[in-house]
Amino acid sequence: MKIMYNESTCNRYGVCVEEAPEVFSFAEDGSLVIATYQPPEEIQDKVRDACMMCPTQSLQVEEE
Ligand code: SF4
Repeated sequence: MKIMYNESTCNRYGVCVEEAPEVFSFAEDGSLVIATYQPPEEIQDKVRDACMMCPTQSLQVEEE
């Protein structure tokens, strides 16, 4: 799987950060940090949920 992120539509509410903190976090300047765009198998379900829950559809998942 590969995460696609659209920074221009992200409102930084942090739903993804709450759902999958292993991958998503905030930098000190408030920008979203994505630790990896290709998360390991064991957390992919979580990451998929986090992406689906994004209120602005700024996160999409591309399955390989
Ligand atoms: S859930 Fe979506 S809008 Fe909210 S911080 Fe994450 S990417 Fe941005």
